[in-house]
Amino acid sequence: MKKLQAVKGMNDILPSETPYWQYLESVLTEVVQSYGYQEIRFPMLEVTELFKRSIGEVTDIVEKEMYTFDDRNGDSLTLRPEGTASCVRACEQAQLLYNRGTLTQKLWYMGPMFRYEKPQKGRQRQFHQIGAEAYGFEGPDVDAEMLIMLARMWRALGVESAVSLQINSLGTSESRSQYRAALVAFLQQHRDRLDKDSQRRLESNPMRILDSKDVNTQSLLDNAPQLTDYLDDTSKAHFEQLQNLLSAAGVKYTVNPRLVRGLDYYSRTVFEWVTDRLGAQGTVCGGGRYDSLVQQLGGQPSPAVGFGMGLERLLLLVQELNAFPEDISRNVDVYLLAVGDVLPQAFQFAEYLREEAPYLRVQLNCGGGSFKSQMKRADKSGAEIALIMGENEAQNDEITVKFLRADEPQQTVKQQEITNIIV
Ligand code: ATP
Ligand code: MG
Repeated sequence: MKKLQAVKGMNDILPSETPYWQYLESVLTEVVQSYGYQEIRFPMLEVTELFKRSIGEVTDIVEKEMYTFDDRNGDSLTLRPEGTASCVRACEQAQLLYNRGTLTQKLWYMGPMFRYEKPQKGRQRQFHQIGAEAYGFEGPDVDAEMLIMLARMWRALGVESAVSLQINSLGTSESRSQYRAALVAFLQQHRDRLDKDSQRRLESNPMRILDSKDVNTQSLLDNAPQLTDYLDDTSKAHFEQLQNLLSAAGVKYTVNPRLVRGLDYYSRTVFEWVTDRLGAQGTVCGGGRYDSLVQQLGGQPSPAVGFGMGLERLLLLVQELNAFPEDISRNVDVYLLAVGDVLPQAFQFAEYLREEAPYLRVQLNCGGGSFKSQMKRADKSGAEIALIMGENEAQNDEITVKFLRADEPQQTVKQQEITNIIV
């Protein structure tokens, strides 16, 4: 019989890898919560319409990347390709965004996302994101704070030297549509110099041509109208203030006038954190402002800004930089041997130890075995310390301590004294 395999591009995260994930997740959630963001959890399945209406019909995601199917009732459902749309939907549904001006929200989420893509390093069909969204804030202060928070995350993980920030402003939808018209007029004169994808986008989504990877298209764009020249005054002021706040906070950035991002819902600020250490999949985090999305999805107008960060790529980057803590993959600190007819006493002592030193990871030998074979398991477990409960120890309320990695003498002590020796 053919062995069953995981779906292509959807990876298991094995026990040897989970410590790295747990570390990333705990560092990131600690930082985001230190800025007062609260966690929100929403379902992995949503009605397809939600993503069509928010992300946009002519985006890569909606055109070719979504996992969409009809359920038994004939309703079209989609596995979430990103978090923002669901987050807005959930907030609207629970009426968290009403009373604009007084009711603001700072939220974060984390979990798997699904996109039908060509699997490769840093690109999977099931991948993971942490994201944050701030609702109800109009000014550039919250954009700046979000970027300052991200800079803190990079420092906390030791990758700050390998990521750099690019920012741009897309203006309002009005200024953007003026720019779009100018861009289309220009590109139509040079249609034959555009790559195939860009030619197609000229009709459907011309702004996306700006981030075409094609060299000829890029060189043509050098002479094209610049988005920055079409910014409305309010957007311009917003963008300038954002830059002032970033500079004052010591967050380095470059303005990339061709940064447009792949989703339709952005306005004003957009940003990406990129690295050159991961090959083609260099964007670790992307986000921006989406002031019209809440209304577009049927809510009261509420300004919004957010980001999504790819955890697979971040993990690869931390690995690439050797920035994970050294002992991260060790999952046992203390291995307790039970040699002879001493299981009840060994259990009792293990519970005592877990009570007294809850931060220790204590593994009790299960499955019996001779002293020698239990010591082998202790060594293999990666533990620093073996504790030996033999018949003598059990009788005298004692325990024998053997250091497995350090050059220290073995000793037998009263059980109550154990925390004086191992801390
Ligand atoms: P890309 O241009 O690499 O496809 P994107 O613009 O589609 O990225 P976003 O929708 O902005 O990506 O998602 C935010 C982040 O999520 C990305 O910067 C990336 O780190 C991560 N990400 C997106 N798609 C994938 C994927 N298929 N596999 C792994 N990570 C991904
Ligand atoms: Mg993509």
